[in-house]
Amino acid sequence: MAVDAERSRRCYLGAIGVQIWRLRSADVDTQGPEQRSGEMPPPVQQEDTIASESAELANVGVESPPKVAPAAVPTADGAAAGADWDRLSEAVSSCHACELCATRTQTVFGVGNRQADLMIIGEAPGADEDRQGEPFVGRAGQLLNLMLAAIGLEREQVFIANILKCRPPGNRDPRLEETLRCEPYLMHQIALVSPRVLLLVGRISAQRLLKTGDPIGKLRGRWFAFGPDEIPLIVTYHPAYLLRSPEQKSKAWQDILRVTRRLRETAGDPDAWTTG
Ligand code: URA
Repeated sequence: MAVDAERSRRCYLGAIGVQIWRLRSADVDTQGPEQRSGEMPPPVQQEDTIASESAELANVGVESPPKVAPAAVPTADGAAAGADWDRLSEAVSSCHACELCATRTQTVFGVGNRQADLMIIGEAPGADEDRQGEPFVGRAGQLLNLMLAAIGLEREQVFIANILKCRPPGNRDPRLEETLRCEPYLMHQIALVSPRVLLLVGRISAQRLLKTGDPIGKLRGRWFAFGPDEIPLIVTYHPAYLLRSPEQKSKAWQDILRVTRRLRETAGDPDAWTTG
């Protein structure tokens, strides 16, 4: 791995709370600039821990993933049936299916690579997203970007969407009714992107999409098979939660490693999925 790439990877890992140790004799030039300027915590974990975590986690819960039926794909009388991207996007932006249309600044459709291997699904737009019309642009979004960068992905390479396309006032939890009305749009997005892996971030998106009341601690870290195509799906903590509870970042990192590994295992070109 090139020194620059390794340096950035270490910066991103540091930022998402993954500590890496190096042998005392290791070349200091492999540290990122934050580490050199003393802003990063001292390395405390053995360098090959990530690799061994990967190996150890490779066997976790992937053999017989529970199958999850998606919500019904919208029919001719549902919103945006059979829509291509343009029609779907138009249907979302003019949606009045629930009361959130009255309080939104604009709808937040989703962003990124429409042929992405990885699709990330969050909860609902917050104030920043409502203002900018793009998901995950606030502080949580910045952490999400760092998590992606830590596995060598640009935000533009994945597709990012939310369960809800409109902001719930005051950032309250999405109501079940709102989720059900909005869900057909997300189902269409999943069908159009047809990702190789779905990553759900946060309790709400996990519980609503998996149709369960199980706590996120029970849902994260294991594979589900979503929909008729049995898309591999995994849940992790929401970046906003990680900002409040940084001690959970290492678990989120384990989940991200699972995603990377799955992408690599199923890639036509495995070299495209090295974490560096
Ligand atoms: N939280 C989410 O779940 N989605 C966003 O787009 C922003 C914050």
